[in-house]
Amino acid sequence: MFDLPAPLPQVPAEADLVSPPLQTRGFLHSVETGAAVDGPGMRFVFFLSGCQFRCAYCHNPDTWKLHNGRALDLDEAMAEVSPYAGFLRIAGGVTVSGGEPLMQADFTGALLARLKDQLGLHTALDTQGFLHAGVSDRWFDPVDLVLLDIKHSDPEAYHRLTGQALAPTLAFAHRLVDLGKPMWIRYVLVPGLTDGADDIDRLADFLACLGPAVQRVEVLPFHQMGAAKWARLGLTYSLAQTPTPTAPQVDAARARFAERGLKVF
Ligand code: SF4
Repeated sequence: MFDLPAPLPQVPAEADLVSPPLQTRGFLHSVETGAAVDGPGMRFVFFLSGCQFRCAYCHNPDTWKLHNGRALDLDEAMAEVSPYAGFLRIAGGVTVSGGEPLMQADFTGALLARLKDQLGLHTALDTQGFLHAGVSDRWFDPVDLVLLDIKHSDPEAYHRLTGQALAPTLAFAHRLVDLGKPMWIRYVLVPGLTDGADDIDRLADFLACLGPAVQRVEVLPFHQMGAAKWARLGLTYSLAQTPTPTAPQVDAARARFAERGLKVF
């Protein structure tokens, strides 16, 4: 077993937590045109900039700063995805990810609405849910699926891992049930950090109680592919010596979720 990492870098200053003033403008880190793991089918993925978490295992610390992203307006965002719309309507859809897309809730909501209303595309929102209280129920109307990242089931360990509180994310899961929104849960399995049997069982029990809104649980094995970005940004990466989980470790974690009747990938 490893100890949890030392306290994480400070969360961003107030200025970084504020959405851009105009809801039609946002900050984009990048796009991916052929993702196969960010929702059903083939996905066009918008990775928006800005995240108020500082996860020890973050693969994309270059998305943390809102204003490091490329500024664009809704028309420009739509122009990026429109050429693929015909294919995406048949093969998959669009996922809005990050960073944390709720950091730019106005822009994200407006983009999701246009993807749905103008292009008729399946939409997925990839979020850790921390900021959900800042948007209305109607904001979720154009969202077909939520990919909800739950990073730990123990509040203290969650805070040490992410720099933020667990409770808003769990409240968000309940809210999605109330809204009738399906969700796929994502759980990154990190040896010595998130693979404790009790911790997984606690999360599995919570998810099982949410009922059929939880369509699947994805156990994502930790890997070291983000380490180079931490180094490039001059950040200390506390998981440099942490191994990738073995296949039996991943299978064991998946089995714990499956024991509760959850569909696991
Ligand atoms: S929530 Fe996602 S983008 Fe934000 S720090 Fe964690 S892993 Fe990185």
